[in-house]
Formats: sequence, structure tokens, C-alpha cells
Amino acid sequence: MAGLTLEHLFKRYDNSGKKKRTVNDYAVNDLNLKCEQGEFVALLGPSGCGKTTTLRMIAGLEDITKGNIYIDDCLINDLHPKDRKIGLAFEDYAMYPPLNVYGNVAFNLRAKGVDSAEIDRRVREIAPLMQIEDLLEKMPVKLSGGQKQRVNIARAIIREPEILLMDEPLSHLDGKARQAMRIEIKRLINKIKCTTIYVTHDQLEAMSLADRIAIINFGVLQQFGTPTEVYDD
Ligand code: ADP
Ligand code: ADP
Repeated sequence: MAGLTLEHLFKRYDNSGKKKRTVNDYAVNDLNLKCEQGEFVALLGPSGCGKTTTLRMIAGLEDITKGNIYIDDCLINDLHPKDRKIGLAFEDYAMYPPLNVYGNVAFNLRAKGVDSAEIDRRVREIAPLMQIEDLLEKMPVKLSGGQKQRVNIARAIIREPEILLMDEPLSHLDGKARQAMRIEIKRLINKIKCTTIYVTHDQLEAMSLADRIAIINFGVLQQFGTPTEVYDD
């Protein structure tokens, strides 16, 4: 487990030739945020406010225009994504259709050259946490939306990340499934005690899950506090 610090973080996309989409062209504008070890922080804000860009910079999938990112006291700006000990559960990160759930969960460890006995040990440890034991032999096309999400999160946490980043993990679920999965996530996070950043545009989701909520608008941090602090104002 580790803390995460964003220090004067800026992102400016090169939109040359295109219509300006952001204030001053900054998708992320002087963002300062400190997440304590084991804390669950929700990044809340309307579509286009810079949430995904922030996660992508933390993960190393997007260049930083200016600013610093630390895991504990370690500056990670120049670390390769693979060396960041960050787990990503992004909705657009599709599973490999020809592999069953086990293969998908194991994939990143296989790619890293972890031996199969160790992979098997970790899959068997994580499967009950995510309640996917009965799904391990299934192919991705046979899974429901909620099952896919659980597998996605299993893929992220099997790498034993210090920081877990989730980008709208419930966005394609509706009604009951959404509420059930929210409870699932809460249960899971309590168990794995990973420092987590959770992106959502849903205030209810943020309030019911997060230790603290960071409200972002036009790339600018507007408020950061516990749900009570943020909504009592
Ligand atoms: P959110 O996740 O809050 O919906 P994003 O981080 O996806 O917001 O986007 C923030 C801003 O950056 C938006 O104005 C968006 O149009 C712009 N943006 C996102 N990705 C790119 C890109 N690859 N190139 C140019 N502009 C982008
Ligand atoms: P690779 O060539 O291994 O895919 P990348 O730089 O694309 O390397 O990604 C580095 C790591 O980040 C990969 O191990 C992958 O698991 C993860 N990753 C990349 N893109 C995404 C994404 N959209 N969602 C979740 N994880 C991702």
C-alpha cells in the first residue's frame, strides 16, 4: 500500500487546427491532490472535466505537460507504465476473446514471465474475492456486464498494485446491477485495502464509496473532502 501525490499537474493536448475544447486548452489545470495510504478517493465531475486524462497520466499512458506524480516519496513521472505498480480497471480495456477468464486474469503475469505455479496460486486467491471462481473456464462473450467488471478488477489486482485506478467501472450497468456492483466494489476494497482512485460522474456513487471526494470542473480541483464536508457546504 502506498500514498499518491499529484503536484501542480497540468495536461495540455495539442489541439492545433481543431476547435478549442478546454479552457486555456488545459484538460488538467494545476491539479494538486494527496491520497493517503489505503484511502478511497473518488474523482467526481461532468464529462470532459479531465478525470480520465488524470488517471492516464498517473498510469503513465499519457504524457504529463507539467507537474509531478509521486507514489509515497518516489517521483514516478519517468517510470514506464509496467514499473508503476498501478492496477487499472478501465472499461475500454477489452478482454482477449480467445482466452477464457482464467487466461485473461493470468495474462499480464504470464507476459511478465511469472511461473505458472505462482500464477495459479494468485488466480485461486483472487477468484473468491471477486466471486469469479465459477467463471474461470468461461469465455468472455458468455459473461454478463457485471461479471466482466469483476473479471476486469481481478485482472487489475492480480498484479498486486500499490494503487488501483478505476474509470467509471459501473458506467455500462443500469439500475439494480449498478447498485449490486457498487456494494461489491465496497466489499472488495475493504478487503484488499488498496489505495484507490475511482472516476465517476455519479454523485451518489462517489458519496457511497469514497473516503474523500475530489470535485473537478474544467480540469480544476474545486473541492476535496469527505462526503460530509463536500456536501454540507
Ligand atoms: P473526463 O474523463 O472527465 O470525461 P477527459 O479527461 O476524457 O475528461 O477529457 C478532458 C478534456 O480533454 C476534454 O475537453 C476532452 O475533449 C479533451 N481530450 C481528451 N482526450 C483528448 C485527446 N486525446 N486529444 C485532445 N483532447 C483530448
Ligand atoms: P503493452 O505493450 O504491454 O500493452 P502498454 O504501455 O500499452 O504496454 O501498457 C502498459 C500496461 O498498462 C500494460 O501492462 C497494460 O496492462 C496496462 N494498460 C494499458 N492500457 C490499458 C487500459 N486502457 N486499461 C487498463 N490497462 C491498460
